[in-house]
Amino acid sequence: MNIHEYQGKSILASFGVQIQRGIVAETPEEAVKAAKQLHIETGTSWWVVKAQIHAGGRGKGGGVKLAKSIEEVQERASTIIGMQLITPQTGPQGKKVNKVLIAEDVYYPGESKTAEFYMSVLLNRQTGRNIIMYSTEGGMDIEEVAHSTPDKIYKEEIDPKVGLQGFQSRKIAFNLGLSGKAFKEMVKFVEALYKAYVASDSSMFEINPVLKTSDDKIIAVDAKVNIDDNALFRHPDYAAMRDKSEEDPTEVEASENDLNYVKLDGNVGCMVNGAGLAMATMDIIKLSGGEPANFLDVGGTANAARVEKAFRIILKDETVKAILVNIFGGIVRCDRVAQGIVDAYKNIGEIKVPIIVRLQGTNAVEAKKIIDESGLKVKSAIQLQEAADAVKEVLA
Ligand code: GDP
Ligand code: MN
Repeated sequence: MNIHEYQGKSILASFGVQIQRGIVAETPEEAVKAAKQLHIETGTSWWVVKAQIHAGGRGKGGGVKLAKSIEEVQERASTIIGMQLITPQTGPQGKKVNKVLIAEDVYYPGESKTAEFYMSVLLNRQTGRNIIMYSTEGGMDIEEVAHSTPDKIYKEEIDPKVGLQGFQSRKIAFNLGLSGKAFKEMVKFVEALYKAYVASDSSMFEINPVLKTSDDKIIAVDAKVNIDDNALFRHPDYAAMRDKSEEDPTEVEASENDLNYVKLDGNVGCMVNGAGLAMATMDIIKLSGGEPANFLDVGGTANAARVEKAFRIILKDETVKAILVNIFGGIVRCDRVAQGIVDAYKNIGEIKVPIIVRLQGTNAVEAKKIIDESGLKVKSAIQLQEAADAVKEVLA
């Protein structure tokens, strides 16, 4: 689950990570109040107004603006709240900004001794260990750094048996070219950051930039935090941070109906029971010359109501040119599923795209008969190859 920068920073701060302080606001009036409050708390008289959306590259898109007076805070907040912010990560349609973070300016005007670093914590799936990735080239597009100067990206892998070791945090501070107070601050920063990553059950932290201020403090200026969905039950306070308005509406609707749906870029919708079978089905679609339009696992109870809901969700996607239903009847009987499909089809009314149904397992033959005799424009199959051929045929 992705969360907003301001929420990510609040998690970091709760583990002792130094952050650029800020207050979230939903209206220009709240923004002004927040700026005044920050002035009292931090002494700052310059602020940054930062759009809160689940996408990076906000600075480039005009979603991060410095304000040198209360009037400017008001003005910048009015422009940014409600805007359709387009960044390299939002796609051309952009994302609507509902909230801004009013943050203290930490680049202290007139001073040039600041440095921007990059730091992320994530799981290396090859080794099964967490790694801290970091670079002296922060603040900018890290993909670009990785591409043009890969030697400027360092990785430190953590042994889960002993955790992050002191020498590792010191090595990081050293590689970032720090000394004196900044070195010590960086060691503390890395330790707190790693502790926060593990304790919050996150799957990714990306802090870009980590700032060395002119007075040698080390501060998280940005925070991209992704929390492992499977661990959310352990953190009800984080679960409450979910902002559904940032998510794909169809995915939200699917999850509210307990359907495991992920939108993809292709043209063949698929409805499958079981994640493994869904993966195999997506492979079959590719081998038949199509591209899966989605991953959809209806789960063990493929009853009529669920099948109907799944059809409706797949059909919301206008790029879908055909639907492949691939259900294995183990616990659930194929004839029941077939009847469910026929009922769902009739309830929805006319479905314009061809549907290929492959039912295998208990009562597969009876199921095929139900589909074939239904009089609907549905092709039936028992063998996977037949289904694949049928997909190929309708796409041709
Ligand atoms: P992103 O563009 O979505 O990654 O958003 P960031 O939070 O990283 O902000 C973008 C850029 O705004 C940063 O790289 C900084 O250069 C700049 N920025 C952020 N906070 C401050 C600040 O307090 N003062 C100044 N002058 N610039 C800031
Ligand atoms: Mn950033």
